[in-house]
Amino acid sequence: MKSSNSNQPTIVAILLFSSVCHFLPFCIGSPPVNEVENETPFTYTEGHKGPKEWGHINPHWHVCDNGKFQSPIDLLSERVHVIHSLGKLRKDYKPAPAVLQNRGHDVMVKWKGDAGKIIINGTSYKLIQCHWHSPSEHTFNGTRYDLELHMVHESSHKKLAVIAIVYKYGRRDSFLSQLFHDIKRSGNGIKEKNLGIVNPGDIKFGSRKYYRYMGSLTVPPCTEGVVWTILKKVRTVSRDQARALRDAVHDGFEANARPTQRLDERPVLMFTPRENGASA
Ligand SMILES: [Zn+2]
Repeated sequence: MKSSNSNQPTIVAILLFSSVCHFLPFCIGSPPVNEVENETPFTYTEGHKGPKEWGHINPHWHVCDNGKFQSPIDLLSERVHVIHSLGKLRKDYKPAPAVLQNRGHDVMVKWKGDAGKIIINGTSYKLIQCHWHSPSEHTFNGTRYDLELHMVHESSHKKLAVIAIVYKYGRRDSFLSQLFHDIKRSGNGIKEKNLGIVNPGDIKFGSRKYYRYMGSLTVPPCTEGVVWTILKKVRTVSRDQARALRDAVHDGFEANARPTQRLDERPVLMFTPRENGASA
């Protein structure tokens, strides 16, 4: 792992500034884009509109194929720059009304009210929704885990920031326990279910250490300019909980993880509290 507190390459500096997109030509003027909703004409099975074909299925999805900032990636220790100045993740979540939506390719909790925000380099990104992939999409030194949660946030300029939490089989996850019965029922043709008030603060992070890099949505249209934050701590989920998520989605989407993409020259930063700071 490289420790580099000074003399960072320019591209590292870009990650530290607020309006990342102002520096990157590919996101200037790009329209607001969200993940494809509901039933989709893509799959995770190669040869049947699988990940290698996504870029050719729809002219708006070319970046899935020829993008240079695609996600997910393998988080390889020796490529990571430790940057204390990234700072602690600033989050300010609050309980808000939410619905459970089965999009066919995944299960999503969508907040209908103000569920709070995260702040990255001075920019606020409001929490919009969260959803799960199994197995995990990001890998740690080549290891793929059993589940990955994505918390999708959007700025007032429609830029996206996603927090990812990776899980392996073990003890139950308390947030999924709250949703378990609704997730099981969502497989029975009920597309949207009112959940009442859901507190995103109930999603356990468990660590202050995180990775940060610039990437994309991991489903078509694979839009780039997404600020990724991946928590370093691998948490646990029970097999029943992971199975409920897989059973809920449509046939063929039981495994809904995109293969890892080329990192090329992109830097991956890691925040870790200073020794005298704290316990993470
Ligand atoms: Zn996702």
